[in-house]
Amino acid sequence: MRIIHTVREMRDYVRGVKLAGHTVALVPTMGYLHEGHLALMRRAKERCDVVVASIFVNPKQFGVGEDFERYPRDMARDARLAEEVGVDAIFNPPVEEMYPAGYNTYVEVEKLTEGLCGAARPGHFRGVTTVVNKLFNIVQPDVAFFGQKDAQQAIVIRQMVADLNMPLEIVIVPIVREPDGLAMSSRNVYLTPAEREAALVLYRTLQRANGLIMAGERSVPAVLTEMRRMLEAEPLATVDYVEIRDAGDLSVIDTIQGRVLVALAVFIGRTRLIDNLLVEV
Ligand code: AMP
Repeated sequence: MRIIHTVREMRDYVRGVKLAGHTVALVPTMGYLHEGHLALMRRAKERCDVVVASIFVNPKQFGVGEDFERYPRDMARDARLAEEVGVDAIFNPPVEEMYPAGYNTYVEVEKLTEGLCGAARPGHFRGVTTVVNKLFNIVQPDVAFFGQKDAQQAIVIRQMVADLNMPLEIVIVPIVREPDGLAMSSRNVYLTPAEREAALVLYRTLQRANGLIMAGERSVPAVLTEMRRMLEAEPLATVDYVEIRDAGDLSVIDTIQGRVLVALAVFIGRTRLIDNLLVEV
Protein backbone atom coordinates (compact mmCIF):
# COMPACT_ATOMS: atom_id res chain seq x y z
CA MET A 1 0.00 0.00 0.00
CA ARG A 2 1.25 3.45 -0.92
CA ILE A 3 1.05 6.44 1.42
CA ILE A 4 0.98 9.63 -0.60
CA HIS A 5 1.40 13.14 0.76
CA THR A 6 1.37 15.42 -2.29
CA VAL A 7 -1.18 16.27 -4.96
CA ARG A 8 1.39 15.72 -7.69
CA GLU A 9 2.25 12.21 -6.53
CA MET A 10 -1.44 11.37 -6.12
CA ARG A 11 -2.17 12.50 -9.67
CA ASP A 12 0.77 10.47 -11.02
CA TYR A 13 -0.43 7.38 -9.16
CA VAL A 14 -4.00 7.69 -10.48
CA ARG A 15 -2.79 8.36 -14.02
CA GLY A 16 -0.88 5.07 -13.97
CA VAL A 17 -3.83 3.17 -12.55
CA LYS A 18 -6.21 4.55 -15.17
CA LEU A 19 -3.77 3.93 -18.03
CA ALA A 20 -3.75 0.29 -16.94
CA GLY A 21 -7.54 0.29 -17.40
CA HIS A 22 -8.42 0.05 -13.72
CA THR A 23 -11.40 1.65 -12.00
CA VAL A 24 -10.74 3.89 -9.00
CA ALA A 25 -12.73 4.23 -5.76
CA LEU A 26 -12.28 7.04 -3.26
CA VAL A 27 -13.15 6.82 0.44
CA PRO A 28 -12.73 10.25 2.06
CA THR A 29 -12.09 10.15 5.83
CA MET A 30 -10.55 12.18 8.62
CA GLY A 31 -8.74 9.09 9.88
CA TYR A 32 -8.63 7.44 13.30
CA LEU A 33 -10.27 4.57 11.48
CA HIS A 34 -12.96 2.34 12.92
CA GLU A 35 -15.26 -0.37 11.53
CA GLY A 36 -17.52 2.27 9.98
CA HIS A 37 -14.68 3.53 7.80
CA LEU A 38 -13.52 -0.02 7.08
CA ALA A 39 -17.03 -0.96 5.88
CA LEU A 40 -16.78 1.82 3.30
CA MET A 41 -13.34 0.60 2.21
CA ARG A 42 -14.51 -3.02 1.90
CA ARG A 43 -17.46 -1.93 -0.24
CA ALA A 44 -15.09 0.16 -2.35
CA LYS A 45 -12.77 -2.79 -2.85
CA GLU A 46 -15.69 -5.00 -3.97
CA ARG A 47 -16.75 -2.37 -6.45
CA CYS A 48 -13.51 -1.02 -7.94
CA ASP A 49 -10.07 -2.31 -8.90
CA VAL A 50 -8.13 0.27 -6.94
CA VAL A 51 -9.16 1.92 -3.65
CA VAL A 52 -7.78 5.26 -2.54
CA ALA A 53 -8.63 6.32 1.02
CA SER A 54 -7.96 9.91 1.98
CA ILE A 55 -7.01 10.71 5.55
CA PHE A 56 -7.18 14.44 6.08
CA VAL A 57 -8.46 16.32 9.11
CA ASN A 58 -9.92 19.22 7.17
CA PRO A 59 -9.57 22.47 9.14
CA LYS A 60 -12.16 24.21 6.96
CA GLN A 61 -15.02 22.07 8.22
CA PHE A 62 -14.36 22.83 11.89
CA GLY A 63 -15.85 25.92 13.53
CA VAL A 64 -14.10 28.21 15.98
CA GLY A 65 -13.90 26.47 19.35
CA GLU A 66 -14.54 23.02 17.84
CA ASP A 67 -12.16 20.08 18.16
CA PHE A 68 -9.82 20.47 15.14
CA GLU A 69 -6.63 20.53 17.24
CA ARG A 70 -7.56 17.67 19.54
CA TYR A 71 -9.25 15.51 16.86
CA PRO A 72 -7.70 12.02 17.31
CA ARG A 73 -4.94 11.09 14.86
CA ASP A 74 -2.95 7.84 14.50
CA MET A 75 -1.51 7.41 11.03
CA ALA A 76 0.46 4.23 11.79
CA ARG A 77 -2.62 2.41 13.06
CA ASP A 78 -4.77 3.77 10.21
CA ALA A 79 -2.27 2.56 7.63
CA ARG A 80 -2.28 -0.95 9.11
CA LEU A 81 -6.09 -1.16 9.20
CA ALA A 82 -6.52 0.26 5.70
CA GLU A 83 -3.98 -2.17 4.28
CA GLU A 84 -5.76 -5.09 5.96
CA VAL A 85 -9.01 -4.31 4.10
CA GLY A 86 -7.26 -3.95 0.75
CA VAL A 87 -6.79 -0.18 0.37
CA ASP A 88 -4.21 0.44 -2.36
CA ALA A 89 -3.20 3.98 -1.53
CA ILE A 90 -3.73 6.45 1.29
CA PHE A 91 -3.78 10.14 0.40
CA ASN A 92 -2.61 12.00 3.51
CA PRO A 93 -1.68 15.55 2.55
CA PRO A 94 -0.50 18.18 5.02
CA VAL A 95 -2.84 21.14 5.46
CA GLU A 96 -0.55 23.44 3.40
CA GLU A 97 -0.73 21.04 0.46
CA MET A 98 -4.53 21.32 0.35
CA TYR A 99 -4.76 24.99 1.35
CA PRO A 100 -1.55 26.79 0.35
CA ALA A 101 -1.13 30.47 1.22
CA GLY A 102 -3.59 32.51 -0.84
CA TYR A 103 -6.18 29.74 -1.08
CA ASN A 104 -9.45 31.45 -1.93
CA THR A 105 -12.12 29.16 -3.46
CA TYR A 106 -15.11 27.50 -1.82
CA VAL A 107 -17.99 25.31 -2.96
CA GLU A 108 -21.33 25.85 -1.30
CA VAL A 109 -24.57 23.85 -1.58
CA GLU A 110 -27.53 26.01 -0.58
CA LYS A 111 -30.79 25.14 1.21
CA LEU A 112 -29.90 21.52 2.09
CA THR A 113 -27.15 22.87 4.33
CA GLU A 114 -29.36 25.32 6.24
CA GLY A 115 -30.92 23.09 8.89
CA LEU A 116 -29.82 20.19 11.11
CA CYS A 117 -26.01 20.13 11.42
CA GLY A 118 -25.77 23.17 9.11
CA ALA A 119 -27.66 25.29 11.62
CA ALA A 120 -25.63 24.02 14.55
CA ARG A 121 -22.26 24.26 12.75
CA PRO A 122 -22.14 27.37 10.51
CA GLY A 123 -19.65 26.93 7.65
CA HIS A 124 -19.25 23.20 8.30
CA PHE A 125 -20.78 21.98 5.03
CA ARG A 126 -18.97 24.67 3.03
CA GLY A 127 -15.74 23.14 4.34
CA VAL A 128 -16.95 19.61 3.56
CA THR A 129 -18.09 20.32 0.00
CA THR A 130 -14.93 22.29 -0.70
CA VAL A 131 -12.58 19.54 0.44
CA VAL A 132 -14.61 16.76 -1.19
CA ASN A 133 -14.58 18.72 -4.44
CA LYS A 134 -10.81 19.06 -4.22
CA LEU A 135 -10.41 15.35 -3.44
CA PHE A 136 -12.61 14.44 -6.43
CA ASN A 137 -10.47 16.65 -8.68
CA ILE A 138 -7.21 15.23 -7.35
CA VAL A 139 -8.16 11.53 -7.33
CA GLN A 140 -10.78 11.55 -10.13
CA PRO A 141 -12.55 8.47 -8.80
CA ASP A 142 -15.18 6.50 -10.71
CA VAL A 143 -17.06 5.87 -7.47
CA ALA A 144 -16.85 7.61 -4.06
CA PHE A 145 -18.13 6.10 -0.81
CA PHE A 146 -19.77 7.94 2.09
CA GLY A 147 -21.52 6.79 5.27
CA GLN A 148 -25.19 7.11 6.18
CA LYS A 149 -23.88 8.10 9.63
CA ASP A 150 -23.52 11.62 8.22
CA ALA A 151 -26.93 11.58 6.54
CA GLN A 152 -27.10 15.27 5.69
CA GLN A 153 -23.54 15.23 4.34
CA ALA A 154 -24.46 12.34 2.01
CA ILE A 155 -27.46 14.25 0.63
CA VAL A 156 -25.45 17.46 0.25
CA ILE A 157 -22.69 15.65 -1.66
CA ARG A 158 -25.16 13.94 -3.98
CA GLN A 159 -26.65 17.36 -4.72
CA MET A 160 -23.22 18.87 -5.40
CA VAL A 161 -22.30 16.03 -7.76
CA ALA A 162 -25.57 16.39 -9.67
CA ASP A 163 -25.52 20.19 -9.79
CA LEU A 164 -21.91 20.43 -10.94
CA ASN A 165 -22.13 17.48 -13.39
CA MET A 166 -19.31 15.65 -11.66
CA PRO A 167 -18.56 12.43 -13.56
CA LEU A 168 -18.68 9.92 -10.73
CA GLU A 169 -21.07 7.75 -8.77
CA ILE A 170 -21.80 8.23 -5.06
CA VAL A 171 -22.47 5.17 -2.89
CA ILE A 172 -23.90 5.55 0.61
CA VAL A 173 -23.06 2.78 3.10
CA PRO A 174 -25.29 1.95 6.14
CA ILE A 175 -24.30 2.96 9.67
CA VAL A 176 -21.97 0.55 11.49
CA ARG A 177 -22.69 0.32 15.22
CA GLU A 178 -21.01 -1.05 18.33
CA PRO A 179 -22.67 -4.23 19.64
CA ASP A 180 -24.69 -2.12 22.11
CA GLY A 181 -25.99 0.18 19.36
CA LEU A 182 -23.72 3.23 19.65
CA ALA A 183 -22.87 4.44 16.14
CA MET A 184 -19.14 4.15 15.55
CA SER A 185 -17.35 7.50 15.46
CA SER A 186 -13.77 8.65 15.85
CA ARG A 187 -15.12 11.07 18.46
CA ASN A 188 -16.31 8.21 20.72
CA VAL A 189 -12.77 8.16 22.20
CA TYR A 190 -13.56 11.48 23.89
CA LEU A 191 -16.19 9.80 26.08
CA THR A 192 -15.48 8.90 29.72
CA PRO A 193 -16.85 5.51 30.82
CA ALA A 194 -19.94 7.21 32.32
CA GLU A 195 -20.46 9.23 29.13
CA ARG A 196 -20.01 6.14 26.98
CA GLU A 197 -22.87 4.54 28.92
CA ALA A 198 -24.99 7.70 28.67
CA ALA A 199 -24.35 7.88 24.90
CA LEU A 200 -26.57 4.83 24.43
CA VAL A 201 -29.52 7.17 24.86
CA LEU A 202 -29.09 8.27 21.21
CA TYR A 203 -29.77 4.84 19.72
CA ARG A 204 -32.40 3.99 22.33
CA THR A 205 -34.26 7.17 21.39
CA LEU A 206 -34.05 6.38 17.66
CA GLN A 207 -35.37 2.89 18.32
CA ARG A 208 -38.24 4.32 20.37
CA ALA A 209 -39.11 6.63 17.47
CA ASN A 210 -39.03 3.67 15.11
CA GLY A 211 -41.29 1.70 17.47
CA LEU A 212 -43.84 4.51 17.64
CA ILE A 213 -43.89 4.90 13.85
CA MET A 214 -44.16 1.16 13.29
CA ALA A 215 -47.08 1.11 15.75
CA GLY A 216 -48.87 3.63 13.54
CA GLU A 217 -47.92 7.06 14.89
CA ARG A 218 -47.77 9.51 11.97
CA SER A 219 -47.50 12.84 13.78
CA VAL A 220 -43.98 14.29 13.62
CA PRO A 221 -44.55 16.55 16.69
CA ALA A 222 -45.81 13.57 18.72
CA VAL A 223 -42.73 11.45 17.93
CA LEU A 224 -40.37 14.36 18.54
CA THR A 225 -41.95 15.12 21.93
CA GLU A 226 -41.35 11.56 23.08
CA MET A 227 -37.78 11.60 21.72
CA ARG A 228 -36.98 14.84 23.55
CA ARG A 229 -38.45 13.45 26.75
CA MET A 230 -36.15 10.41 26.58
CA LEU A 231 -33.05 12.45 25.76
CA GLU A 232 -33.72 15.03 28.45
CA ALA A 233 -34.12 12.26 31.03
CA GLU A 234 -30.41 11.46 30.58
CA PRO A 235 -28.48 13.81 32.90
CA LEU A 236 -25.27 13.81 30.82
CA ALA A 237 -27.12 14.60 27.57
CA THR A 238 -27.87 18.05 26.12
CA VAL A 239 -29.98 18.05 22.97
CA ASP A 240 -28.61 20.00 20.01
CA TYR A 241 -31.43 18.98 17.66
CA VAL A 242 -33.98 16.22 17.16
CA GLU A 243 -35.74 16.27 13.80
CA ILE A 244 -37.77 14.19 11.40
CA ARG A 245 -37.35 15.24 7.78
CA ASP A 246 -38.17 13.92 4.33
CA ALA A 247 -35.31 11.50 3.61
CA GLY A 248 -34.98 12.56 -0.03
CA ASP A 249 -34.67 16.34 0.13
CA LEU A 250 -34.59 17.01 3.89
CA SER A 251 -37.75 19.11 3.66
CA VAL A 252 -39.61 19.81 6.91
CA ILE A 253 -42.64 17.55 7.34
CA ASP A 254 -45.50 17.37 9.78
CA THR A 255 -46.77 13.91 8.88
CA ILE A 256 -44.75 10.75 8.54
CA GLN A 257 -45.17 9.18 5.12
CA GLY A 258 -42.82 7.56 2.63
CA ARG A 259 -39.12 7.56 3.57
CA VAL A 260 -38.25 9.78 6.51
CA LEU A 261 -35.00 10.57 8.25
CA VAL A 262 -35.08 10.61 12.04
CA ALA A 263 -31.95 12.52 13.00
CA LEU A 264 -30.43 13.82 16.19
CA ALA A 265 -27.38 15.60 17.51
CA VAL A 266 -26.73 15.42 21.22
CA PHE A 267 -23.90 16.61 23.44
CA ILE A 268 -22.81 13.91 25.86
CA GLY A 269 -20.75 15.98 28.25
CA ARG A 270 -18.68 18.15 25.88
CA THR A 271 -18.77 15.66 23.00
CA ARG A 272 -21.26 16.25 20.21
CA LEU A 273 -22.58 12.97 18.76
CA ILE A 274 -24.92 12.50 15.80
CA ASP A 275 -27.01 9.53 14.79
CA ASN A 276 -29.99 8.82 12.57
CA LEU A 277 -32.41 6.23 11.31
CA LEU A 278 -34.16 5.91 7.98
CA VAL A 279 -37.77 4.80 8.37
CA GLU A 280 -40.12 3.87 5.55
CA VAL A 281 -43.89 3.62 5.96
P1 AMP B 1 -15.10 10.84 9.16
O1 AMP B 1 -13.72 10.29 9.21
O2 AMP B 1 -15.81 10.83 10.47
O3 AMP B 1 -15.21 12.14 8.41
O4 AMP B 1 -15.93 9.80 8.28
C1 AMP B 1 -15.51 9.42 6.99
C2 AMP B 1 -16.62 8.68 6.30
O5 AMP B 1 -16.96 7.52 7.05
C3 AMP B 1 -17.91 9.51 6.17
O6 AMP B 1 -18.50 9.27 4.89
C4 AMP B 1 -18.76 8.99 7.28
O7 AMP B 1 -20.15 9.11 7.04
C5 AMP B 1 -18.35 7.53 7.31
N1 AMP B 1 -18.64 6.96 8.63
C6 AMP B 1 -18.22 7.42 9.81
N2 AMP B 1 -18.71 6.67 10.83
C7 AMP B 1 -19.47 5.72 10.24
C8 AMP B 1 -20.27 4.63 10.74
N3 AMP B 1 -20.38 4.39 12.04
N4 AMP B 1 -20.91 3.87 9.85
C9 AMP B 1 -20.82 4.10 8.51
N5 AMP B 1 -20.09 5.11 7.98
C10 AMP B 1 -19.42 5.90 8.83
